[in-house]
Amino acid sequence: MAELRLTGVSKRFAAVQAVTDLQLHVSSGEFFVLLGPSGAGKTTTLRLVAGLERPDAGHVHIAGQDVSAMAPALRDVAFVFQQYSLYPHLSVYDNLAFPLRSPLRPTPEARIRAKVTEVARLLRIEDKLGNPATRLSGGQMQRVAIGRALVRDPQLYLMDEPLSSLDARLRNDLRLELKRIQQDLGATMLYVTHDQTEAMTMASRIGVLEGGRLVQVGTPREVYENPSTSHVAARLGSPRINLFARALVPAVAAPNDAVTVGVRAEHMRIHQHSDNDAHRAARVRRIERLSDRHLVHVAPEGSDQEWVVSARAGDSFAPDDAVRVELLQPLWFDAGGRRIDA
Ligand code: ATP
Repeated sequence: MAELRLTGVSKRFAAVQAVTDLQLHVSSGEFFVLLGPSGAGKTTTLRLVAGLERPDAGHVHIAGQDVSAMAPALRDVAFVFQQYSLYPHLSVYDNLAFPLRSPLRPTPEARIRAKVTEVARLLRIEDKLGNPATRLSGGQMQRVAIGRALVRDPQLYLMDEPLSSLDARLRNDLRLELKRIQQDLGATMLYVTHDQTEAMTMASRIGVLEGGRLVQVGTPREVYENPSTSHVAARLGSPRINLFARALVPAVAAPNDAVTVGVRAEHMRIHQHSDNDAHRAARVRRIERLSDRHLVHVAPEGSDQEWVVSARAGDSFAPDDAVRVELLQPLWFDAGGRRIDA
Protein backbone atom coordinates (compact mmCIF):
# COMPACT_ATOMS: atom_id res chain seq x y z
CA MET A 1 0.00 0.00 0.00
CA ALA A 2 1.10 3.48 -0.83
CA GLU A 3 1.52 6.70 1.05
CA LEU A 4 -0.12 9.87 -0.23
CA ARG A 5 1.29 13.37 -0.09
CA LEU A 6 -0.29 16.67 -1.10
CA THR A 7 1.91 19.73 -1.14
CA GLY A 8 0.56 23.26 -1.61
CA VAL A 9 -2.50 22.04 -3.50
CA SER A 10 -5.04 24.71 -4.48
CA LYS A 11 -8.09 24.58 -6.73
CA ARG A 12 -10.49 27.31 -7.79
CA PHE A 13 -13.80 27.00 -9.68
CA ALA A 14 -14.69 30.42 -11.15
CA ALA A 15 -15.47 32.55 -8.10
CA VAL A 16 -15.10 29.70 -5.59
CA GLN A 17 -11.75 28.90 -4.00
CA ALA A 18 -12.54 25.24 -3.27
CA VAL A 19 -9.25 24.26 -1.61
CA THR A 20 -6.30 26.38 -0.58
CA ASP A 21 -2.68 25.39 -0.06
CA LEU A 22 -3.37 21.87 1.21
CA GLN A 23 -0.48 20.11 2.91
CA LEU A 24 -1.46 16.56 3.71
CA HIS A 25 0.43 13.35 4.36
CA VAL A 26 -1.36 10.02 4.66
CA SER A 27 0.97 7.20 5.68
CA SER A 28 0.89 3.74 4.17
CA GLY A 29 -1.83 1.70 5.89
CA GLU A 30 -3.44 4.72 7.48
CA PHE A 31 -7.20 5.37 7.70
CA PHE A 32 -7.25 9.13 7.23
CA VAL A 33 -10.61 10.89 7.56
CA LEU A 34 -11.27 14.32 6.07
CA LEU A 35 -14.02 15.85 8.20
CA GLY A 36 -15.82 19.07 7.39
CA PRO A 37 -19.14 20.73 6.70
CA SER A 38 -20.81 20.91 3.31
CA GLY A 39 -18.76 22.96 0.86
CA ALA A 40 -15.52 22.62 2.85
CA GLY A 41 -13.68 21.13 -0.14
CA LYS A 42 -13.72 17.44 0.84
CA THR A 43 -14.93 16.02 -2.48
CA THR A 44 -12.68 18.38 -4.43
CA THR A 45 -9.69 17.04 -2.49
CA LEU A 46 -10.58 13.44 -3.37
CA ARG A 47 -11.11 14.38 -7.02
CA LEU A 48 -7.71 16.06 -7.11
CA VAL A 49 -6.07 12.92 -5.75
CA ALA A 50 -7.96 10.73 -8.23
CA GLY A 51 -7.00 13.00 -11.12
CA LEU A 52 -10.60 13.97 -11.91
CA GLU A 53 -9.50 17.58 -11.30
CA ARG A 54 -6.15 19.20 -11.98
CA PRO A 55 -4.70 21.42 -9.25
CA ASP A 56 -4.10 25.10 -10.05
CA ALA A 57 -1.03 24.89 -7.85
CA GLY A 58 0.79 22.22 -5.88
CA HIS A 59 1.53 18.54 -6.30
CA VAL A 60 0.04 15.14 -5.55
CA HIS A 61 2.42 12.29 -4.82
CA ILE A 62 1.29 8.67 -4.57
CA ALA A 63 3.92 6.16 -3.41
CA GLY A 64 6.57 8.80 -3.91
CA GLN A 65 5.65 9.45 -7.53
CA ASP A 66 4.41 12.85 -8.69
CA VAL A 67 1.05 12.03 -10.32
CA SER A 68 -0.16 15.65 -10.65
CA ALA A 69 -0.27 15.43 -14.44
CA MET A 70 -1.08 11.70 -14.72
CA ALA A 71 -4.40 10.45 -16.16
CA PRO A 72 -6.86 9.04 -13.58
CA ALA A 73 -6.77 5.50 -14.99
CA LEU A 74 -3.01 5.31 -14.48
CA ARG A 75 -3.03 6.38 -10.84
CA ASP A 76 -4.11 2.99 -9.46
CA VAL A 77 -6.59 4.44 -6.97
CA ALA A 78 -10.15 3.25 -6.32
CA PHE A 79 -12.95 5.74 -5.69
CA VAL A 80 -16.13 4.75 -3.81
CA PHE A 81 -18.96 7.25 -4.11
CA GLN A 82 -21.86 8.07 -1.84
CA GLN A 83 -24.35 6.82 -4.43
CA TYR A 84 -23.50 3.28 -5.43
CA SER A 85 -23.69 2.85 -9.17
CA LEU A 86 -24.07 -0.86 -9.81
CA TYR A 87 -24.92 -2.38 -13.19
CA PRO A 88 -28.53 -3.43 -12.57
CA HIS A 89 -28.65 -6.04 -15.35
CA LEU A 90 -25.57 -7.86 -14.01
CA SER A 91 -25.33 -10.32 -11.12
CA VAL A 92 -23.44 -9.44 -7.95
CA TYR A 93 -20.63 -11.67 -9.21
CA ASP A 94 -20.38 -9.85 -12.53
CA ASN A 95 -20.59 -6.46 -10.85
CA LEU A 96 -17.63 -7.42 -8.68
CA ALA A 97 -15.73 -8.92 -11.62
CA PHE A 98 -16.35 -5.90 -13.84
CA PRO A 99 -13.28 -3.81 -12.91
CA LEU A 100 -11.05 -6.85 -13.56
CA ARG A 101 -12.49 -7.37 -17.02
CA SER A 102 -11.48 -3.90 -18.16
CA PRO A 103 -9.36 -4.00 -21.33
CA LEU A 104 -6.76 -2.00 -19.42
CA ARG A 105 -6.16 -4.92 -17.06
CA PRO A 106 -6.88 -8.25 -18.76
CA THR A 107 -7.12 -10.85 -16.01
CA PRO A 108 -7.50 -14.63 -16.42
CA GLU A 109 -10.98 -15.88 -15.47
CA ALA A 110 -9.63 -18.21 -12.72
CA ARG A 111 -7.86 -15.29 -11.10
CA ILE A 112 -11.07 -13.21 -11.31
CA ARG A 113 -13.06 -15.99 -9.66
CA ALA A 114 -10.56 -16.27 -6.79
CA LYS A 115 -10.54 -12.52 -6.25
CA VAL A 116 -14.31 -12.06 -6.40
CA THR A 117 -14.81 -14.96 -3.96
CA GLU A 118 -12.24 -13.54 -1.56
CA VAL A 119 -13.79 -10.07 -1.60
CA ALA A 120 -17.34 -11.43 -1.26
CA ARG A 121 -16.18 -13.34 1.81
CA LEU A 122 -14.60 -10.22 3.32
CA LEU A 123 -17.85 -8.32 2.79
CA ARG A 124 -20.05 -11.25 3.86
CA ILE A 125 -22.03 -11.37 0.62
CA GLU A 126 -20.83 -14.78 -0.65
CA ASP A 127 -24.39 -16.12 -0.69
CA LYS A 128 -25.54 -13.21 -2.88
CA LEU A 129 -23.11 -13.69 -5.77
CA GLY A 130 -25.76 -15.17 -8.08
CA ASN A 131 -28.39 -12.49 -7.33
CA PRO A 132 -29.17 -9.70 -9.74
CA ALA A 133 -27.70 -6.51 -8.27
CA THR A 134 -31.13 -4.92 -8.11
CA ARG A 135 -32.41 -7.57 -5.72
CA LEU A 136 -30.25 -6.46 -2.82
CA SER A 137 -30.89 -4.26 0.20
CA GLY A 138 -29.28 -0.81 0.32
CA GLY A 139 -26.61 -2.11 2.68
CA GLN A 140 -25.81 -5.04 0.41
CA MET A 141 -25.60 -2.77 -2.64
CA GLN A 142 -23.17 -0.53 -0.85
CA ARG A 143 -21.09 -3.60 0.07
CA VAL A 144 -20.93 -4.54 -3.62
CA ALA A 145 -19.89 -0.96 -4.48
CA ILE A 146 -17.08 -1.18 -1.90
CA GLY A 147 -16.26 -4.66 -3.18
CA ARG A 148 -15.72 -3.30 -6.68
CA ALA A 149 -12.98 -1.11 -5.25
CA LEU A 150 -11.46 -3.97 -3.25
CA VAL A 151 -11.13 -6.43 -6.17
CA ARG A 152 -8.74 -4.07 -7.89
CA ASP A 153 -6.16 -4.09 -5.07
CA PRO A 154 -5.44 -0.42 -5.67
CA GLN A 155 -2.55 1.45 -4.06
CA LEU A 156 -4.99 3.82 -2.41
CA TYR A 157 -8.69 3.97 -1.57
CA LEU A 158 -10.70 7.19 -1.83
CA MET A 159 -14.15 7.07 -0.25
CA ASP A 160 -16.67 9.89 -0.42
CA GLU A 161 -19.31 9.46 2.30
CA PRO A 162 -19.91 5.83 1.28
CA LEU A 163 -22.24 5.14 4.22
CA SER A 164 -24.32 8.31 4.29
CA SER A 165 -27.25 6.95 2.27
CA LEU A 166 -27.75 4.01 4.66
CA ASP A 167 -29.97 3.94 7.73
CA ALA A 168 -28.40 4.36 11.16
CA ARG A 169 -28.15 0.67 12.03
CA LEU A 170 -26.60 -0.41 8.71
CA ARG A 171 -24.24 2.53 8.89
CA ASN A 172 -23.05 1.32 12.29
CA ASP A 173 -22.53 -2.25 11.08
CA LEU A 174 -20.75 -1.29 7.89
CA ARG A 175 -18.57 1.26 9.70
CA LEU A 176 -17.12 -1.51 11.85
CA GLU A 177 -16.70 -3.85 8.90
CA LEU A 178 -15.01 -1.28 6.74
CA LYS A 179 -12.55 -0.56 9.52
CA ARG A 180 -11.89 -4.30 9.99
CA ILE A 181 -11.32 -4.81 6.25
CA GLN A 182 -9.02 -1.80 6.04
CA GLN A 183 -6.96 -3.17 8.92
CA ASP A 184 -6.90 -6.72 7.50
CA LEU A 185 -5.66 -5.45 4.14
CA GLY A 186 -3.38 -2.77 5.59
CA ALA A 187 -5.06 -0.45 3.09
CA THR A 188 -4.27 3.25 2.75
CA MET A 189 -7.55 5.12 2.95
CA LEU A 190 -8.59 8.71 2.43
CA TYR A 191 -12.18 8.84 3.63
CA VAL A 192 -14.50 11.85 3.48
CA THR A 193 -17.38 12.44 5.85
CA HIS A 194 -19.26 15.15 7.68
CA ASP A 195 -20.29 12.61 10.34
CA GLN A 196 -18.21 13.07 13.47
CA THR A 197 -19.05 9.59 14.79
CA GLU A 198 -17.57 8.02 11.66
CA ALA A 199 -14.48 10.17 12.02
CA MET A 200 -14.05 9.40 15.73
CA THR A 201 -14.56 5.63 15.37
CA MET A 202 -12.73 4.85 12.12
CA ALA A 203 -9.87 7.29 11.73
CA SER A 204 -6.23 6.75 12.56
CA ARG A 205 -6.04 10.50 12.07
CA ILE A 206 -8.58 13.18 11.26
CA GLY A 207 -8.00 16.26 9.12
CA VAL A 208 -10.58 18.96 9.77
CA LEU A 209 -11.32 20.95 6.62
CA GLU A 210 -13.06 24.33 6.77
CA GLY A 211 -13.49 26.73 3.89
CA GLY A 212 -10.97 24.80 1.78
CA ARG A 213 -8.25 24.86 4.43
CA LEU A 214 -7.00 22.15 6.76
CA VAL A 215 -7.40 23.70 10.20
CA GLN A 216 -6.23 20.74 12.29
CA VAL A 217 -4.77 17.27 11.83
CA GLY A 218 -4.46 14.74 14.65
CA THR A 219 -5.67 11.49 16.13
CA PRO A 220 -9.37 11.48 17.05
CA ARG A 221 -8.39 11.82 20.69
CA GLU A 222 -6.01 14.75 20.05
CA VAL A 223 -8.55 16.65 17.99
CA TYR A 224 -11.33 15.96 20.50
CA GLU A 225 -9.33 16.89 23.58
CA ASN A 226 -7.19 19.62 22.10
CA PRO A 227 -9.20 21.38 19.39
CA SER A 228 -7.29 24.27 17.82
CA THR A 229 -10.39 26.40 17.19
CA SER A 230 -13.89 26.69 18.62
CA HIS A 231 -15.24 25.45 15.27
CA VAL A 232 -13.21 22.27 15.51
CA ALA A 233 -14.32 21.86 19.14
CA ALA A 234 -17.94 22.11 18.03
CA ARG A 235 -17.48 19.69 15.12
CA LEU A 236 -16.51 16.73 17.32
CA GLY A 237 -18.44 15.25 20.21
CA SER A 238 -22.03 14.53 21.06
CA PRO A 239 -23.62 16.37 22.78
CA ARG A 240 -21.97 19.40 21.24
CA ILE A 241 -19.38 21.18 23.37
CA ASN A 242 -20.82 24.02 25.49
CA LEU A 243 -19.50 27.33 24.20
CA PHE A 244 -20.26 30.48 26.14
CA ALA A 245 -19.00 33.96 26.95
CA ARG A 246 -16.19 34.21 29.46
CA ALA A 247 -18.24 36.81 31.35
CA LEU A 248 -20.62 34.05 32.41
CA VAL A 249 -17.88 32.32 34.44
CA PRO A 250 -16.14 35.11 36.40
CA ALA A 251 -14.91 32.74 39.11
CA VAL A 252 -12.45 30.79 36.94
CA ALA A 253 -8.90 31.95 36.16
CA ALA A 254 -8.66 32.58 32.41
CA PRO A 255 -6.00 33.81 29.95
CA ASN A 256 -6.21 37.58 29.30
CA ASP A 257 -7.38 37.36 25.70
CA ALA A 258 -10.04 34.75 26.43
CA VAL A 259 -13.41 35.70 25.02
CA THR A 260 -15.14 32.33 24.84
CA VAL A 261 -14.92 29.22 26.96
CA GLY A 262 -15.70 25.74 25.72
CA VAL A 263 -16.48 22.86 28.08
CA ARG A 264 -17.63 19.40 27.14
CA ALA A 265 -20.63 17.93 28.96
CA GLU A 266 -18.46 15.30 30.67
CA HIS A 267 -16.03 17.98 31.85
CA MET A 268 -18.64 19.81 33.92
CA ARG A 269 -20.09 18.81 37.25
CA ILE A 270 -23.22 20.09 38.91
CA HIS A 271 -23.94 20.34 42.61
CA GLN A 272 -27.07 21.37 44.47
CA HIS A 273 -26.85 25.11 45.15
CA SER A 274 -26.99 26.23 48.76
CA ASP A 275 -28.10 29.69 49.97
CA ASN A 276 -24.65 30.62 51.32
CA ASP A 277 -22.97 29.53 48.05
CA ALA A 278 -20.75 32.31 46.71
CA HIS A 279 -21.13 30.93 43.15
CA ARG A 280 -23.80 32.06 40.85
CA ALA A 281 -26.75 29.68 40.62
CA ALA A 282 -28.00 27.97 37.53
CA ARG A 283 -31.41 26.44 37.02
CA VAL A 284 -32.12 22.92 35.76
CA ARG A 285 -34.37 23.16 32.72
CA ARG A 286 -34.76 19.56 31.64
CA ILE A 287 -33.12 16.16 31.89
CA GLU A 288 -32.41 13.74 29.05
CA ARG A 289 -32.17 10.21 30.43
CA LEU A 290 -29.73 8.07 28.42
CA SER A 291 -29.00 4.47 29.36
CA ASP A 292 -25.70 5.13 31.10
CA ARG A 293 -25.93 8.81 32.09
CA HIS A 294 -28.20 11.78 32.24
CA LEU A 295 -27.76 14.94 30.25
CA VAL A 296 -28.86 17.81 32.47
CA HIS A 297 -29.70 21.03 30.64
CA VAL A 298 -29.04 24.02 32.87
CA ALA A 299 -29.39 27.76 32.34
CA PRO A 300 -27.20 30.17 34.31
CA GLU A 301 -29.38 32.65 36.17
CA GLY A 302 -29.87 35.85 34.21
CA SER A 303 -28.88 34.18 30.93
CA ASP A 304 -30.91 32.64 28.13
CA GLN A 305 -28.15 30.17 27.27
CA GLU A 306 -28.44 26.49 27.98
CA TRP A 307 -25.53 24.28 28.95
CA VAL A 308 -25.57 20.51 28.78
CA VAL A 309 -23.90 18.69 31.66
CA SER A 310 -23.34 14.96 31.86
CA ALA A 311 -24.38 13.47 35.22
CA ARG A 312 -24.36 9.93 36.57
CA ALA A 313 -27.67 8.18 36.08
CA GLY A 314 -27.90 7.82 39.88
CA ASP A 315 -27.59 11.58 40.57
CA SER A 316 -30.94 13.06 41.47
CA PHE A 317 -31.62 16.40 39.87
CA ALA A 318 -35.04 17.66 38.92
CA PRO A 319 -36.27 20.46 36.68
CA ASP A 320 -36.16 23.85 38.46
CA ASP A 321 -33.44 22.80 40.94
CA ALA A 322 -30.95 25.55 41.74
CA VAL A 323 -27.47 24.18 41.00
CA ARG A 324 -23.84 25.25 40.95
CA VAL A 325 -21.82 24.34 37.87
CA GLU A 326 -18.16 23.39 38.15
CA LEU A 327 -15.90 23.54 35.06
CA LEU A 328 -13.29 20.78 35.15
CA GLN A 329 -11.50 21.25 31.83
CA PRO A 330 -12.30 24.65 30.32
CA LEU A 331 -10.87 25.40 26.85
CA TRP A 332 -10.31 29.09 26.14
CA PHE A 333 -10.70 30.80 22.78
CA ASP A 334 -9.86 34.34 21.65
CA ALA A 335 -12.11 36.69 19.68
CA GLY A 336 -11.17 34.90 16.42
CA GLY A 337 -12.11 31.49 17.85
CA ARG A 338 -8.47 30.39 18.19
CA ARG A 339 -7.48 28.26 21.15
CA ILE A 340 -5.23 30.19 23.56
CA ASP A 341 -4.43 27.89 26.43
CA ALA A 342 -2.96 25.00 24.45
P1 ATP B 1 -20.29 18.30 0.46
O1 ATP B 1 -20.13 17.71 1.84
O2 ATP B 1 -21.53 19.14 0.34
O3 ATP B 1 -20.11 17.33 -0.65
P2 ATP B 1 -17.56 19.21 0.11
O4 ATP B 1 -16.83 19.52 1.36
O5 ATP B 1 -17.30 17.91 -0.53
O6 ATP B 1 -19.11 19.41 0.33
P3 ATP B 1 -16.79 20.32 -2.43
O7 ATP B 1 -17.78 19.52 -3.19
O8 ATP B 1 -15.37 19.94 -2.52
O9 ATP B 1 -17.22 20.41 -0.90
O10 ATP B 1 -16.96 21.84 -2.89
C1 ATP B 1 -16.15 22.89 -2.37
C2 ATP B 1 -16.60 24.19 -3.03
O11 ATP B 1 -16.28 24.18 -4.42
C3 ATP B 1 -18.09 24.42 -2.94
O12 ATP B 1 -18.32 25.79 -2.73
C4 ATP B 1 -18.59 23.97 -4.30
O13 ATP B 1 -19.78 24.65 -4.64
C5 ATP B 1 -17.43 24.34 -5.20
N1 ATP B 1 -17.33 23.46 -6.38
C6 ATP B 1 -17.00 22.14 -6.35
N2 ATP B 1 -16.96 21.64 -7.61
C7 ATP B 1 -17.27 22.65 -8.45
C8 ATP B 1 -17.39 22.78 -9.88
N3 ATP B 1 -17.15 21.74 -10.69
N4 ATP B 1 -17.74 23.98 -10.37
C9 ATP B 1 -17.96 25.04 -9.56
N5 ATP B 1 -17.86 24.99 -8.21
C10 ATP B 1 -17.53 23.82 -7.66
